[in-house]
Amino acid sequence: MKSLADIADTLLGYDPDALQADSVNAFLAAMVPEPTQTESLPLMQGLDRVLAQDIISPMDVPPHDNSAMDGYAFDGSALSANTPLQLQVAGRALAGQAFAGQIGAGQCLQIMTGAILPQGLDTVVPQELVKAHQGRIVIAPGTVHPGDNRRLLGEDVLRGSVALAKGSVLGPAALGLLASLGLPTVAVFRKLRVAYFSTGDEILSLGDSPREGAVYDSNRYTVWGMLQGMGIECIDLGVVRDDPTLLEAAFRSAAEQADAIITSGGVSVGEADHTKAMMRQLAHSDSPGEGGVAFWRIAMRPGRPMAVGRIGRVPLFGLPGNPVAVMVTFLAFVRPALWHMMGARPDDPRVHCPLLQGRSSEAIRKKPGRTEYQRAVVSRTADGSLQVRTTGQQGSGVLSSMVQANGLMVLPHEQGNIAQGDVVQVMMFAGVL
Ligand code: AMP
Ligand code: MG
Repeated sequence: MKSLADIADTLLGYDPDALQADSVNAFLAAMVPEPTQTESLPLMQGLDRVLAQDIISPMDVPPHDNSAMDGYAFDGSALSANTPLQLQVAGRALAGQAFAGQIGAGQCLQIMTGAILPQGLDTVVPQELVKAHQGRIVIAPGTVHPGDNRRLLGEDVLRGSVALAKGSVLGPAALGLLASLGLPTVAVFRKLRVAYFSTGDEILSLGDSPREGAVYDSNRYTVWGMLQGMGIECIDLGVVRDDPTLLEAAFRSAAEQADAIITSGGVSVGEADHTKAMMRQLAHSDSPGEGGVAFWRIAMRPGRPMAVGRIGRVPLFGLPGNPVAVMVTFLAFVRPALWHMMGARPDDPRVHCPLLQGRSSEAIRKKPGRTEYQRAVVSRTADGSLQVRTTGQQGSGVLSSMVQANGLMVLPHEQGNIAQGDVVQVMMFAGVL
C-alpha cells in the first residue's frame, strides 16, 4: 500500500495548501484499495452491483439465424431490380419450432419473428409489404434487399467472447444480457460499507429542540442519500460532539465496521475543535506507514477544506461542514473514489456524472485560480440547443438552490468571467442524486 507521501510525489506540483481540483481524483484513486472479496448472487440480486470477473459467453446469442419480422423467408438472390418476384408459400415456421421441410426454388416459407431461418433462406419480407393470394406472394421490386430482416447467429454475443467485462456496473440491460446467456447467478464484489458522522457542537440531530446558534444536521441526510444511489451499505454514526473521547470512539467504531469513513465539518483552517487533532492522532498511531492524513485547501468553491487519509487501512474522507460543499466534494471526488473501491471500471457510465455543454444564459463573475461549481439548470431552448442558468443563491450553505438544480456548472481553474452566451460545462446529477 502506497503511503500518502508516495502518492503526493507522483502528482506534479502537489501543494496541500493550494491543491487544484483536477488533481484530487488521481490522488484518491491511488489512495483507496481495490476490492478483493466477491460473492455469487442470483441474477436479480446483482442489480447495481459490480461484476467481479469477465463473463465469457457459453453460447451464441442468438443461437440461430432467425427472422426479425413476421413475413416470408426466401432466397434473396432471386430478387431482381425491375421485375416483381412471385413465390409459392411452401410451409410455415413458428418461433420455437424448427421447420422440418424443404424450400425449393420459386418457394418461400411463411415465418414468424424469432423463428429459425432454414439453410438457404437469407431474406425476410414483412407480411404487410407483400400481396398474398391463394398460397402465393408477390414482392414488388425494391421492397427488400438480400439479407434484410434477418438476425444472424451470434450477432449479439459470440460464444467464447467477453460478453461483459469485469468492473461493469450491472444495470437492467446487463442483467438482461447475462440472462440471455442462460446464466442464473453472477459473481459480484462484496457491497461496500461506509460509515459516516457529522461533527460540531452546534449541530442538532432531528428531534433535538432548537437552540440559539445551533443548526440541524443536514449532511448525514445528503450523504446517506448519495450513498444509497450507489448501492452502498450505510453505517450512520450520528452527530458527534466536539469532544476528544466521543470523537475517538466514533472514528474507532467507524474504522472497525466500515470500508471507508466519511465525516463532515471540523476540517477548515481556523477550526478550534478536536476533529483534526483526532484524525491526525488516529491516522498516525494506528498503523505507521499505512495511515496518515492530509489536510487540503483545494482551490475550489464551494468546498475548500478537506481532509483525506487512512485510519488504519480504512480510507477517510473528511468533508467540509457546509451542506453544499459536502455535496459538491462528494460528487466531484468521493463518489469516483468509492466507485474505484467497489471495483467499477473508470469508464463505466455510472462512475462519472455526464458532462454537457450549453450556453450560459447570464454573465457570471469568476476569478481565475480556482474551480467553481455553480448550481444550475440545463434546459433546451426553442432551437434545440442547451441553455444553462444558475439557480440563485450560491452560498455554500444554501441547499435550496441545490434542490432546484439538475447539475453543477463547472468553471475550470484558469477560467475568468463568463459572458452571457459563453459555452460552459455542466456536470449533470439528475438521476444520480
Ligand atoms: P465547519 O467546516 O465545521 O467549520 O462548518 C462550516 C459550516 O457548516 C458551519 O456554519 C457549520 O455550522 C455548518 N455545518 C457543519 N456541519 C453541518 C451539518 N452536519 N449540517 C448542517 N450544517 C453544518
Ligand atoms: Mg465546525
